[in-house]
Amino acid sequence: MSEFLPLSSEEELKGEICETMRRLFNRGLISALGGNVSARIPGAKEFWITPSGVFKGELKPEDLLKADLDGRVIEGFLRPSVETPFHAMIYRKRADVNAVVHCHNPFATGLALAGIPIQPITVEAAVVLRKVRVVPWAFPGTDALANLVGEYIEGARALILMNHGVIGVGSNLLEAEAIVETLEEVAMTQFVASVLKREIPLIPREDMELIEKLYKV
Ligand SMILES: [Zn+2]
Repeated sequence: MSEFLPLSSEEELKGEICETMRRLFNRGLISALGGNVSARIPGAKEFWITPSGVFKGELKPEDLLKADLDGRVIEGFLRPSVETPFHAMIYRKRADVNAVVHCHNPFATGLALAGIPIQPITVEAAVVLRKVRVVPWAFPGTDALANLVGEYIEGARALILMNHGVIGVGSNLLEAEAIVETLEEVAMTQFVASVLKREIPLIPREDMELIEKLYKV
């Protein structure tokens, strides 16, 4: 018998969640105790999510919890992320979403607090992010926040939560991770440009139309 037995897709998914958390932590988008990631097997009625109160840079698959679409824990020993309600809400609302990443991006959140909308100033931002919506303040971990997220996530890939952080969603973990990273990259670029110049040059209208056609934005 081979000693390299194939991992079940669920075990693989748990490993990928931990890897995603590690990369986001190393990038400074998730702090020691802040930020959470979840993912599900496409179409599943339950999802795996990161725990709360545990150092986020070195999570192991056995630290994760499984929750149903009402946010109730059905497997795991630690306390689930306090944001489990909005993760569950997103999976309920969006059959196309299989991964949710929540980080505390300083530049994206800062621009939203200053009332400055994120602009599609790079091709990647235009293609990957599409429209970034800002969710009004609601206390972290509450049903009020979950309900607002459920409302704003319709047709969106990226949300900024006022006075809090960001959410990226995707059909898999890599897509959701790319959303929050692109969001921070474009927010930093826009911030640098706006400090040095009042009017930021945008991608010309005809090229934006080309991007929309090419990438079906
Ligand atoms: Zn948070």
